[in-house]
Amino acid sequence: MIYAIASGKGGTGKTTVTASLAAVWDRPLTAVDLDVEEPNLHLFLNPEMTAEEPAYMEIPVLDAARCTLCGECAAFCQFKALSVMGATLLLFPEMCHGCGGCLALCPEKALTPGRRELGHILQGRAGSARFLMGRLRVGEAMSPPLMRQVKALLPRNDEAGDVLIDSPPGVSCPAVNAVMDADVIVLVTEPTPFGLHDFKLAVEAFRPLGKPMGAVINRAGMGDERVQQFCREEEIPVWAEIPFSRSVAESYSRGEVVARAVPELRGVFLALMARMQGAATASIQGEVHHA
Ligand code: SF4
Ligand code: SF4
Repeated sequence: MIYAIASGKGGTGKTTVTASLAAVWDRPLTAVDLDVEEPNLHLFLNPEMTAEEPAYMEIPVLDAARCTLCGECAAFCQFKALSVMGATLLLFPEMCHGCGGCLALCPEKALTPGRRELGHILQGRAGSARFLMGRLRVGEAMSPPLMRQVKALLPRNDEAGDVLIDSPPGVSCPAVNAVMDADVIVLVTEPTPFGLHDFKLAVEAFRPLGKPMGAVINRAGMGDERVQQFCREEEIPVWAEIPFSRSVAESYSRGEVVARAVPELRGVFLALMARMQGAATASIQGEVHHA
């Protein structure tokens, strides 16, 4: 089963929750950081890295001697990565999405495959869990192609264990890309006006995916009850409330895994794990029932 831990905004404690779940998970696990622009799950889990590989995306390379400046490639490219300017075909590699269309249609075969480095993929072990993360190259704008390459390394069947995804925050393309293959989505929020606002956006963005979804309210007790009220109205189960406390804040600031550093919270994460697994099982049973 694949479980995506997501949030409508950064700073809600999404990675803290992912790290604590990884620490208590009772089945074989792959913990993966898909927040490739700012990965930080490794700071909590301290994995021993065993491999690091560069990741690339295919982009066109121009052979100007063959190009007749017909403009077909530029007209085709939806991303304006190619443009005929006077007697030159300009290529903007950073805008290329690697669709390969221009290479296929050039009548002169003036475009050939080249590559652009997207970043790195790192693999290792964090205790008994396998660990995976992507790290986007500084200055690279396109995270989904790197995320797809990280996801291609995930186990494909349940016998190989479960997957916990630390998703990018927000509701933009990378965030949707991270949760779209998940069986269950966990939305981490906090009881503040900003938290509620972004939580609503996340519910709006992810609900159409039709996946089981539950909420984790971090720093519970810090604000008001409007997040809980919204969850009741929208029939989103609250799977865990992590109390706002000095001991949690201190363990976070030391880069510790809360479920280990604050023993009284271990039970909260065990209960959260059980609810996530229960939602996944109920979803499968529902699918079988409807088949
Ligand atoms: S389609 Fe080929 S020949 Fe035409 S402008 Fe593009 S690269 Fe040049
Ligand atoms: S590969 Fe696709 S996105 Fe990239 S320049 Fe060619 S048509 Fe545009």
